[in-house]
Amino acid sequence: MAIYFKGMDAEETAGLTMEMVNSGETVDLSRLKGTTVDKHSTGGVGDKTTLIVAPIVAACGLPVAKMSGRGLGHTGGTLDKLESIPGFRIDLTGDELFSIVEKAGLCIAGQSANLAPADKKLYALRDVTATVDSIPLIAASIMSKKIAAGADCILLDVKTGSGAFMKSLEDSERLARAMVDIGNNLGRKTAALITDMSVPLGMAIGNGLEVKEVIGILRGESHPLSDDLIEISLNLAANMLKLAGKGSLEECYVKAKKALTGKEALGKLKEMVEAQSGDVRFINNPDLFPEAPFTETVTTKKSGYISEMDSEAIGMAAMYLKAGRAKPEDKIDYSAGITLCAKTGDFVEMGKPLAVLYSPEEGLLADAKGRFLDAVKISGEAPLERKLVKGLIG
Ligand code: URA
Repeated sequence: MAIYFKGMDAEETAGLTMEMVNSGETVDLSRLKGTTVDKHSTGGVGDKTTLIVAPIVAACGLPVAKMSGRGLGHTGGTLDKLESIPGFRIDLTGDELFSIVEKAGLCIAGQSANLAPADKKLYALRDVTATVDSIPLIAASIMSKKIAAGADCILLDVKTGSGAFMKSLEDSERLARAMVDIGNNLGRKTAALITDMSVPLGMAIGNGLEVKEVIGILRGESHPLSDDLIEISLNLAANMLKLAGKGSLEECYVKAKKALTGKEALGKLKEMVEAQSGDVRFINNPDLFPEAPFTETVTTKKSGYISEMDSEAIGMAAMYLKAGRAKPEDKIDYSAGITLCAKTGDFVEMGKPLAVLYSPEEGLLADAKGRFLDAVKISGEAPLERKLVKGLIG
């Protein structure tokens, strides 16, 4: 409670983080050849950047041993997305993780229960004392797990806007600065990109739908609505490569783009899926992902520009359709979610499709449609162009 009211300086925040790291196991990645890089996103709607960035970075020759989490509330989780590929295993032993990275160049697995266990206890305490919302405590909590996971370099993707944990740019910058200071104080090369989350990223929200979108991008067959997702992913990949000493930012961006357009990243995704027992036929033929039994097209009630999208409300609508969880123990449906047909800045004609909703339960569609329409503002004036990368700290 004292920290909540009075804050902590960088040294105190790093000290608390280290105590949480030392409360459990730490992963020693020194067995892997080359500089190891990790990435962490503060969470968003339609945020499938890890599934694009990790294969790009691996294709550029850096080993990626990444621990990811599950979705909760309006935000998705990489593990859920990967588990929409039949057979994909995320519960791996330490030895399996190493041998998969050695063989495929990348591995994305669930976090061991004993990584920074003090964070879980402190988080539970913060939850019941209304002290979650404290920048030094959030920064220490996130960074304790990243430091324990062992990578030499850490790139943070701090989202800002309506679908982000931090809604204002100032708060996002403060959180980014606090996390970067912790990482650098504890001997990890750390930087943060502040990226826009005022509009869902890409066009799909929901696990199987998002993996299909990623496969399209890695194959070079993406839809223009995925352009923001591709641009942010390339920026993240370039910054990870730069942190690991692969050249200037411009050189790293060119390397990342080449790995994407040359389809080496697609090859890496396939190698990882195969190594983690996933059914590679789904990557070769994404039409195999089952479509939800019930769908509904949401159309516009008037013509005009989409001037605003409440990304959190759209994420909640996807959760309601069964793509996400209200509580950690809830069951999700991999085919559920939303595909956008237009985004902020687009002109839409009355009666034209705005989105398609997918659900395993027909009864959920009408309410989700109302929620989606409430989240989209249409006006006579085009909004200002969005800046996708709003800052770099580090
Ligand atoms: N995510 C975390 O891991 N910890 C926090 O305190 C908040 C968000």
